[in-house]
Order: sequence, then structure tokens, then C-alpha cells
Amino acid sequence: MHRRRRARRPGLGRVRRVRGLSTVVVEREAPGGQAGQSAAIENYLGFPRGLSGADLTHRAVAQVARFGAEMVVARDVVGLEQRGPVRAVLLDGEGEIEARALVVTTGVSYRRLEGEGLDEFTGRGVYYGATASEASQCEGDEVYVVGAANSAGQATLNLARHARKVVVLVRGESTAASMSRYLVDRIEAAENIEVRHRTEVVRGRGDGHLEEITLRDRDTGQEEQVATSWVFAYIGAVPRTDWLGESVLRDTKGFVLTGPELAHADGHGWGLERPPFALETSLPGVFAAGDVRLDSMKRVASAVGEGAMAVHFVHRYLATT
Ligand SMILES: Cc1cc2nc3c(=O)[nH]c(=O)nc-3n(C[C@H](O)[C@H](O)[C@H](O)COP(=O)(O)OP(=O)(O)OC[C@H]3O[C@@H](n4cnc5c(N)ncnc54)[C@H](O)[C@@H]3O)c2cc1C
Repeated sequence: MHRRRRARRPGLGRVRRVRGLSTVVVEREAPGGQAGQSAAIENYLGFPRGLSGADLTHRAVAQVARFGAEMVVARDVVGLEQRGPVRAVLLDGEGEIEARALVVTTGVSYRRLEGEGLDEFTGRGVYYGATASEASQCEGDEVYVVGAANSAGQATLNLARHARKVVVLVRGESTAASMSRYLVDRIEAAENIEVRHRTEVVRGRGDGHLEEITLRDRDTGQEEQVATSWVFAYIGAVPRTDWLGESVLRDTKGFVLTGPELAHADGHGWGLERPPFALETSLPGVFAAGDVRLDSMKRVASAVGEGAMAVHFVHRYLATT
């Protein structure tokens, strides 16, 4: 939250000005977000050997402090109000922060695989929402995809271009209801893709990296161990945007529309003569960055990059008001 004047902030100390702005970061749990849960982030620029999410978080928090922004942790933002030029966020319990501009980076929650031991291999064989960079590393391997929706289908086809074999694990009887027909057709036509229905992953084992998983037939209960170093899970990502109320336009799943996307939206109510800035939402002065944004990349590097872009647009917005 970027403010030009001091605002009502119960219980908070004085905030130093960062590049002419006083900035408050509100975090409901602990700093780090999803990235903080990753055992190994290997695709973030500047860390050729990768680093853990905890390490990245530690570095980020130190940097936030050095730049003089204030962190308010263990406080949940539960509402947003427009008061003339002021954008006020309401905190749980009592309290609020009035700001001149707001950057929404509340991200998504990926549903996690529940099988025994799988948590410890997150980023070391178990991936959530993986992209092309991970796919290209599977060259010649047998990989497992968990999920039955379009995101799982698209990832399967992408992985099949690199992997020797892709096995799709589907909890239900079929993917027909949850996956687009063209994806189902392409998956069925691919020679190196196998779909196993009524099957789930119940265990993961390995020494520092995933080496083996246990599959369970949900009808018979029969278990089978298979060797693999790759499990990609697509079992749902939900944006955390309920608190934005009605003034910030989202798609049907709750992802925030920004910039040019607003031009294609019905009834977006953009009332200004100037077009919205690239990461600006339907409420002027409120920006969105990272996973919470519609069609975002769902990567650390893109979330960080969009955050930096959003700050640039905050400055431009403040210059117009
Ligand atoms: C297990 C896992 C491993 C991953 N590994 C990699 C990887 O190796 N490489 C990579 O590039 N990407 C990885 N990703 C994806 C990457 O972590 C995300 O793309 C990135 O963290 C998105 O950042 P974000 O700031 O947009 O959102 P998030 O990381 O989701 O952060 C949102 C933050 O907002 C807080 N918040 C939410 N709602 C509220 C509220 N109402 N009030 C206050 N605070 C709130 C949350 O507690 C959270 O800390 C991984 C994701 C997961 C889940």
C-alpha cells in the first residue's frame, strides 16, 4: 500500500518514506507466500544452484526492512473501500489502512497432494502449476500428472513433447466432464500418454529428491510402487480475492482483470478518460500483480517482475491525481 500522507493505522509505528512513498505490506500468515513453501526454487534469476523458499523469504524480508517499508504480519485484509481518492483496506478484527494507491498481491492457494511424504518433495520432484521450463527438464523420463481439468490436460500435452511417457492420474471415472474435448482427443491420440482413472498417489519416497511413488486403485485398494522423479499436480488453484468486493472486476473464478483486459469486459465501469495502466484494476489506483491476476504466469520471477512494474504505475497514477 503506497501512501503519500500518514494514515489511520491503529497500533502501527512510523513508516519511512521509500522513493517518496510510505509503504506498508500486510501479510496474513508469514512472509513468503507460496514460494516460501518450496523446498527448491531453481528457476529464479541470480541463483544458479537454486535456493529454498525459506532462504528467498529471509532475503526478501531483510530487503523490505532495508528499504524502509513496514511489514504488518498476522493481519488479514478483509475489505476494500473507496473514499474519494483514498483506497482503504480493512483489517480483520479492528483497524484499517488508508492509502492513495494499493497493489493487490494476494496470490492463489494451490490444493496440495495429501499422500504420505509428498510434502517434503515439493520442488524436488513434486511440482504445483509447473511450466515449460520444468517440462523441458523431463526429457526422456516417465512423468506423472495428477488432475483432470484443463490445466492438467494442457500440462500433459506439453510434458509429452519432452517426456518418454506421461501417466495422467485421475481420481474419477473420466475426464469428459472436467476437460475440454479437444484436450481429451489429443491426449487419447498421443502414443506416449496413458490415463489411469480411479487412481491416486498415496505416498512418495526418495533420498533428497523424489524417486518413487505409490499409486492406489480407488476401487480395489490395490497399491503399486512406480519409479519416477516427476509428479505434476493440477488439482486446483483458487485466487484470494473475495475481500475486494464488487468494485474490482474479476473473472468467474475470481482472478483479477487488469489493464487491457478491462476493455473486453462487460460493464467494467471504467470512468476515466485515460485508459487503465497495464496492471491497474477496474478501480483506479488499485493495481494487481502476481498469481492473483488473470492469465498470470504463476512463477516467482513473473510475480516479482509484475510487482516492480506495479510500483512504476503507482508513481504514474499518483502523478495524475
Ligand atoms: C509448493 C509450491 C512450489 C513452487 N515452486 C516454484 C518454483 O520453484 N519456481 C517458481 O517460479 N514458482 C514456484 N511456485 C509458484 C510461485 O510460488 C508463485 O507463482 C508466487 O509465489 C506467486 O507470488 P504472489 O505474490 O503472486 O502470490 P503468493 O505467493 O500466493 O503470495 C500471496 C500472499 O498474500 C497473502 N495473503 C493472501 N490473502 C491475504 C489477505 N486477505 N490479507 C493478507 N494477506 C493475504 C498470503 O498469505 C501470501 O503470503 C511454487 C508454488 C507452490 C505452491
